Formats: sequence, structure tokens, C-alpha cells
Amino acid sequence: MTPYFLIDADKIEQNLKVLHGVMERTGCSILLAQKCFSCYALYPLIGKYLSGATASGLFEARLCHEEMPGKQNHVFSPAFREGDFDELIQICDHIVFNSPRQLHLFGCRAKEAGLQVGLRINPECSTQEGHAIYDPCAPGSRLGTTIEVFDAMPQDDFDLLDGLHFHTLCEQNSDDLETTLNAVEERFGKYLPRMKWINFGGGHHITRADYDIPRLERLITHMSRQYGLHVILEPGEAVALNAGTLHATVLEIQPKGADGISNVILDTSAACHMPDVIEMPYLPPLIEPVGHNVYRFGGPTCLSGDVIGVYSIERELHEGDELVFDDMAIYSMVKTNTFNGMPLPDIYIRKNGNVELWKHFDYSDFKCRV
Ligand SMILES: *Cc1c(COP(=O)(O)O)cnc(C)c1O
Repeated sequence: MTPYFLIDADKIEQNLKVLHGVMERTGCSILLAQKCFSCYALYPLIGKYLSGATASGLFEARLCHEEMPGKQNHVFSPAFREGDFDELIQICDHIVFNSPRQLHLFGCRAKEAGLQVGLRINPECSTQEGHAIYDPCAPGSRLGTTIEVFDAMPQDDFDLLDGLHFHTLCEQNSDDLETTLNAVEERFGKYLPRMKWINFGGGHHITRADYDIPRLERLITHMSRQYGLHVILEPGEAVALNAGTLHATVLEIQPKGADGISNVILDTSAACHMPDVIEMPYLPPLIEPVGHNVYRFGGPTCLSGDVIGVYSIERELHEGDELVFDDMAIYSMVKTNTFNGMPLPDIYIRKNGNVELWKHFDYSDFKCRV
């Protein structure tokens, strides 16, 4: 029953093969960024091709530990909590701190527990326009250590470091990575020979058709040869790009308004089921031939702005018709909520042509959160 997500495991495997090719040709490690896609039913498949996963905190780190056992488990957080730390250093093998202060507070314990210790840097190089909320190099950013702060770090803390980490891209190609690496080398180059590894973060749209993989591989090889560094990438989107759909049903079609557009109420909601549509914002792709019927799709919540978008499609819609939104595996299931008591979409997985129900949600999932 709609609304539901349908995850395409075969498409994810295709993506994983592309990423694995980069690992094989360059010797780099690639991790799944779980914050984008945490559908752990596919962790065994992902673990077959990638080096492991990276986490934003204790819960994601636990998920990797439980569902991708034996694979690398990295964690980064802008600030760690004392209460989480003992467990984190038991289950993780790499930890990345955001500031010299955090490194000073926690670095020794991580090191003694045998973890690789890194610091996130801010290369102060913005390469994206339009999506300021996804730009960690924007003025006033709390993410990463600038060279000014890095230079002033006490030697004892610096000596704890095995690697550096930056994450500045979002859905970008390898030309922007090249620009960013130039800034990293210009500012932090003097420290790079003393490190073992460098993590290029995520935001690399490696599995997109027009992504320039040879350039990415040249950049990885350059950092390895020039500074003796092992390179790590941690994409989220690239793992599950174009590998899932969200299915919804038309509940009501309102008469055309003054703007000549019919509002259509669906049983899915932008605010609850695809919040990035409002947050980013973007227009999710709809799997429909384009035509002259113009509809504004919205959710059944009370929020006036719960609008998915305006679409021109070929067919004339009727109550009960099903609509399918594309590229819904990424940043969707991990972001759903039950505002207005909206039911969460069930999750199905398609593998080798077979579709299986993976998760069913009901009233209790709403009730247990409020
Ligand atoms: C979000 C994030 C990623 C993954 O980004 P994608 O755009 O999904 O590839 C990787 N590393 C860090 C630190 C992030 O915040």
C-alpha cells in the first residue's frame, strides 16, 4: 500500500561496482556515508565492494558495527559527548575531530584504544553556488579547522594526528574536487608529509553519468605519490544514486485555481517523506511522460508549504492513480518524520526481479516518538 519506498539493490550493486573500480585502480578506500543511506538490509552487499562505512555519531557507528561487521568503521562529529565516547572507541577504528579543542579533550584516549586519529580541516574554498546550507566553507562555518587555528595548535596535540579530513562538496564533479585540493595543498601542504592518510569527504557524484572518473583517479594518485598519503573517500549519494523510488496515490484533484493549475493531494508528503524537497530545495524527478496537464502535487498535512512541486505530464490524473518519484533512496528514508501523524512509508527492496517488504511502519511508530 502507498506510500512506500522501493529500493533497487541491483542498481546499488551497479553503483558499487563503479566505486570498487576506483578503489582497485588507485588503491584508495571508499566508505558509505550512512547519514545518506542507512538501509542496513543492503550493508552485506555494500560491504562486499566498499571498505566500510562512516558515521556521524554513536548510533550510525553502532549500525555499521552490527550490520557491516569486520569492515572499517569511521566516525566524525562536530563535538563528541563524554557519555558516548567509551563505546565509540570500542567499535570504531578511525575517529575524526572537528577542532583542536576536541582533539585535545579526546585524542589521547582514542589513540590509546588503537584508533587512527584525524582532524577535519576547512580549506576555506567554496566551490558550490546556490546551496549555502551545504557549504561547510561558507563564512561563519562551524565545520572544520582553518589554517589559522591549525597553525596555533600545541605540538602535543598535533603529534596525535594520523590524518586529515575535509568535506566541502555536494553533488559535485571532480573539477571542483581539484579546485578544493589545490586549496588544501596551498594551505595545509606543509603538514601533509607528516600524515598517513587524507579523507576527501563526500559530495563526489561518482556514479552520475557525466562524472569525470579519470580526473578523480589522477587526483587520488597525485596525493598518494606527492605526500605518501592513503586516500579515503566517503560518498553517500554516489552509493545509492538513482536506486530508489517513492510511490504515492492521488487522493484528490482540486479544480483549476486562478493560476490555471490543479492542486493534487497525494498520500505522501514533502514535509514528512522527502524533506529535502523543502530544505534544499529541489524538484524531485517524477516518472511520467511530459505533456500539457499541469498539476501541483502536495501532501495531506496542514503545512501550506507541503508542496512537492508543479509538473506538466501527459496523462490526465484521476483519484486512485499511482505516481512514482525517482531517485528517492538518498537522504529520504533517513529523514522521514511523522509530523501531523503521517504514516511512514513502508520500505520494499527489489533484488534480481523479486520485490520483498523490508520494513512496515504503523501507528506504533508514531506513538512511540511523541
Ligand atoms: C554528508 C557527508 C558525507 C556524504 O556526502 P554525500 O553528499 O552524500 O556524498 C560524507 N562526509 C561527511 C563528513 C558528510 O557530512
